[in-house]
Amino acid sequence: MIRTRFAPSPTGHIHVGNVRSAMFGWLFARSQKGKFIIRIEDTDLERSKPEYTDMLLNDMEWLGLDWDEGPRVGGDYGPYFQTQRGDTYQKYTQQLLDSGHAFKCYCSEDELTAERELAEKESRPPHYNGSCRCLTEEQKIAFETEGRAPVIRFRVFEEAFILNDMIKGEVTFPKGMVGDFVIVRASGIPVYNYAVVIDDLTMDITHVLRADEHLSNTVRQQMIYKALGMPEPKFGHMALVLGEDRKKLSKRHGATSIEEFRRLGYLPESLRNALALLGWSSPTAEEIMPTSKIIELFDINRVSASPSVFDFKRLDWISRHDIMNTNIEKIMDLCIPYLEEKQYDLSDKKYLKSIIEIVRGNCNHLSEITDFVDYFFDKDYIVDQEIKDLLATEEAQEVIKSFAKALSEEDRPLDKDVYKDLTTIVKEETGMGGKKLFMPIRGALTGKAHGPEMFLILPILGKERALNRLLV
Ligand code: GLU
Repeated sequence: MIRTRFAPSPTGHIHVGNVRSAMFGWLFARSQKGKFIIRIEDTDLERSKPEYTDMLLNDMEWLGLDWDEGPRVGGDYGPYFQTQRGDTYQKYTQQLLDSGHAFKCYCSEDELTAERELAEKESRPPHYNGSCRCLTEEQKIAFETEGRAPVIRFRVFEEAFILNDMIKGEVTFPKGMVGDFVIVRASGIPVYNYAVVIDDLTMDITHVLRADEHLSNTVRQQMIYKALGMPEPKFGHMALVLGEDRKKLSKRHGATSIEEFRRLGYLPESLRNALALLGWSSPTAEEIMPTSKIIELFDINRVSASPSVFDFKRLDWISRHDIMNTNIEKIMDLCIPYLEEKQYDLSDKKYLKSIIEIVRGNCNHLSEITDFVDYFFDKDYIVDQEIKDLLATEEAQEVIKSFAKALSEEDRPLDKDVYKDLTTIVKEETGMGGKKLFMPIRGALTGKAHGPEMFLILPILGKERALNRLLV
């Protein structure tokens, strides 16, 4: 059974780069009928906060990347917080100490710094010099009596390691790349490179998909697996996510945190679609796809080893498509908070629904809804200056008066055909056509020069509101 995991450090809302790793682990698990696990890497006690864990789990829930095991859902391999897994780490640390793959190191910070500086001066790699590798029991007791608390270091293998990365292909780590590294701090808290191995091992993780920046850590992790005599999982390291200027994606490029996308009113399915295209492409070359289709087509071998660009325009394009193809009631519910902020009177739900139906196609994301609805609400019916100028002309007044008269005499419910009949009457009566006919009508009814088709707008505004605007 394939088991993948997302192992975030709880430091706040999730960002695109991070969630892309989660997304691909999730897609891989879902496409292989495997399990997707969340584990919280909270050993950095200063930076990790429970509220941050909540934020990131909420982001994951909103995005719809559901997990089979982890916080909030439990599972057979818990606890799913590193700070609660101390006993497990201790057990393996003892095993490594007993087998000679790890040792207690009593060197002080000052000694280590002096040693590093010396190595630099002598143009040697700044690796640990191994001075505590073979301490006798007496030496250890002497250090402890001095009050030194030991860290635990891993005794590095003097050999090259090869990684068959699912995405990058074969990567060779030559021997001598790293020196004996710390696996457990003097406080007893394990460091990332160690805890991650013990967790992946004891949680039966089969595939680790994560960001490129962890590639150089992998050799350390491979060594620990080897020392424990355990098989390593398969690794896949995903290249960076870039902005359109091909620099690492950051705030400067626009929204980057999941929470920001949510607030802007993107649908989670649109974001999932855009995230999946960050380094993966469909064999059918389609770009807009429901998640179920992405899962069906997902193939880890099609994930690119090159950096990918987060294309905001493509996200908007997907988003516009999804907004049009989502149930109108749902879109309406999602729009309400943005409209409430504008203090519009939303009591008439039928009216609201008809408005949203005709303007949703203009929105790249739902918070933009407020850019297109003002003239439907009397309090924000604002006539633009160019329209004021137009309506002040005699020709425009003639059209408006004729249209108002025809409308007031109209008894049928307003629809596209009725609108057409009304404009035909005005055309015959005034002799105006084209822009001269349509602009004054649009201008008087909406205050704007552009917008959705008037035959859609008039039936929504209704006769009374329309006449009020025409007869000023
Ligand atoms: N906590 C690490 C991070 O957030 C996880 C790395 C890994 O997946 O191994 O980058």
